[in-house]
Amino acid sequence: MVIILKKDAQAESIRRLEESLKVKGISANHIEGANQNIIGLVGDTSGIDVENLLAQDCVENVRRVQEPFKKSNRKFHPDDTVIPVRNTVIGNGSLQVIAGPCSVESEEQIITTAIACKEAGATMLRGGAFKPRTSPYSFQGLGGEGIKLLVKAREETGLPIVTEIMNGADLDLFADVDVIQVGARNMQNFELLKALGKCDKPILLKRGLANTMEELLMSAEYIMAGGNMKVILCERGIRTFETMTRNTLDISAVPLLKEKSHLPICVDPSHATGIVSLIEPLSLASVVAGADALEIEVHNDPKSALSDGGQQLTPAKFAEVMAKIKDIAAYLGRHLGK
Ligand code: PEP
Ligand code: MN
Repeated sequence: MVIILKKDAQAESIRRLEESLKVKGISANHIEGANQNIIGLVGDTSGIDVENLLAQDCVENVRRVQEPFKKSNRKFHPDDTVIPVRNTVIGNGSLQVIAGPCSVESEEQIITTAIACKEAGATMLRGGAFKPRTSPYSFQGLGGEGIKLLVKAREETGLPIVTEIMNGADLDLFADVDVIQVGARNMQNFELLKALGKCDKPILLKRGLANTMEELLMSAEYIMAGGNMKVILCERGIRTFETMTRNTLDISAVPLLKEKSHLPICVDPSHATGIVSLIEPLSLASVVAGADALEIEVHNDPKSALSDGGQQLTPAKFAEVMAKIKDIAAYLGRHLGK
């Protein structure tokens, strides 16, 4: 980190600034320029509050030269992180396809859908039990009961289960869940992230609707700072000025996050645009871009779905999409599952 000093910076103010940095174990190297004096900081600057530095009398500007995310940064951990999930793994070069309904609605619905997803080649089952809905009057999910139904569907199909948590106080209800999802709306619910940092389950962390990649990595950092290194990043589309799609899939996030971080990356092409016909091309594009996993919404009867009916694939359509996904994965020398 580099501090650019004001032209009229007082020696006493600079001395106080240096003292405050020294207490944090950071030393200051002065560089006197013809027009500007700067201080180069040496030490772990990840805990430094840039806003606080900017508030000091003598400081004109502050530049970070290192990224603020450490534990998720590939620079400090060059090897890909491989995360075990029950009898399989995410991040070893294979491709996982997490499929299932937006919401768990009934035993029949989740079991029928899970069997169809498995037959088509899905490797994990998704289903929302706690639903983050824009309207409080919309279906809010079956809660703990929904998780029990997912467990039944796992017993039936052997597919590991992925479901969203909205409140850290519910963590006990997730004891039987294989991967805990943090939804886009909770990406910066820092208390929830801290609670998940203390558990030892894989976390599927979705990018917020209007969050940068750096903010996504900083949220991963919250979980990892608590000791849980099993974080899977998920690109699910961001808000842009475009109105023809629900969100805009930021496909560049896949290779860029893989460059910046060692964590596996998943793409959700369903929430990314909300348009059924785009799920196939965007799934294929995501595999080509290097995604470790896809998360796709599939419902046994989308027309009667209690949430996101318009964007869920029928099992028949999902089977078609899966056939193409398998072809493209094979072309790239990748295989499905473990
Ligand atoms: C979901 O996957 O069920 C969901 C609500 O997605 P997102 O948080 O990405 O909107
Ligand atoms: Mn949904």
